[in-house]
Amino acid sequence: MADITFFPVGNGGMSLIRLSDGNKTSILIDVNIRTAADDNEEGTCDVTKELRKKIRKDDNERPYVDVFLLTHPDKDHCTGLTKHFHLGSLDEYDDESGDGEDLKIIIKELWSSPMIFRRASKNNALCADAKEFNKEAKRRVKQFEESKDGKLEEGDRVKILGEDVDGKTDKLEEILVKVDEVFQKVNGQENEHIEMCLIGPLSKQEDEERENVLNSNRSSVIIQFSVAADKNNKNSCLFLTCGDAKVTIWEYLWDIHKNNPKSLEYDLLQVPHHCSWHSLSHDSWAENHDPKVSSDAKNALSQALNGAIIVSSSDSIKDDDNDPPCIGAKREYESISEEAGGSFYCTEEYPDEEKPMPLEFKITKEGPQPPAKKSRSRLEIAGIATASRPQLHG
Ligand SMILES: [Zn+2]
Repeated sequence: MADITFFPVGNGGMSLIRLSDGNKTSILIDVNIRTAADDNEEGTCDVTKELRKKIRKDDNERPYVDVFLLTHPDKDHCTGLTKHFHLGSLDEYDDESGDGEDLKIIIKELWSSPMIFRRASKNNALCADAKEFNKEAKRRVKQFEESKDGKLEEGDRVKILGEDVDGKTDKLEEILVKVDEVFQKVNGQENEHIEMCLIGPLSKQEDEERENVLNSNRSSVIIQFSVAADKNNKNSCLFLTCGDAKVTIWEYLWDIHKNNPKSLEYDLLQVPHHCSWHSLSHDSWAENHDPKVSSDAKNALSQALNGAIIVSSSDSIKDDDNDPPCIGAKREYESISEEAGGSFYCTEEYPDEEKPMPLEFKITKEGPQPPAKKSRSRLEIAGIATASRPQLHG
């Protein structure tokens, strides 16, 4: 059985997909391992320990993930990377350090947006972990360019998700995934337990006005994962994850996909930008008396299938002026999940605010199963269906 886990990391991202091949294959999306978690401060979940419980070790007893995907290089999506993960050639792996508990986690294959090829601008300086991520991604791309047959070993493998401007990714065909492309290769192997559709970052737009708007905030990787419950039940859970994509991105995505929004459909959605109002609206939540929701952005985020579960990876959400997370955005997402007969979760509120724990959804052939007893199962809500089960892509 496959499962998908969201770790409580405050306003940040950290989620793990384990596939139905006996949970052998793991895909980690972003990390935000804060000092409070490392120091085991009261009330803060030790997310590294929880992650280590869920991932495997190789023949040399080294913990690993098959894939680490960084949706975008903001601090709240890569904090702790250098401290807890091995970066650099596997020949330089330090297996003497610590007592086995502290051995660094190996990343067999790295998935990155083409942002690594851009120069950091003054207003967009990268944090130390993001710089190290870029360095590691570039090291792997160089390995690819220098390899004779384009084949990379585990620990050197890399995928670039989306084309860069000015042809910088033109010669990287074999490790490049283009927008709207559906792919199945995980850590160098075709994997029958999963299928990915790349939705963003959007590639360069012909329209100059659109290009200008997108250039500033188009950088988050957006993927629709189609996860199998087992080898006879593919496409059991469509999981849409989208980093910190803001309202303009969702408006353009709706414009592109409105006639056939299949690639925006989901059984499980990690809401963009920690339940920020700015993924749904151009208005300020705190300063505007009557902030309006963009109907196009909301439509893009409303492609919920029967019983869809919506997760906010954020601090707990209060009825106040805060943003993110924003109570107004939560109400919008709750209305979407209610209409689909589903449910809404916040990572820092599960199972309660005092002691948040990883939020794990088992993927059965009926879809993602909520962990809390209170929630209704997908079978129970089947009578109030609003959308039908999609076919596999292609
Ligand atoms: Zn963020």
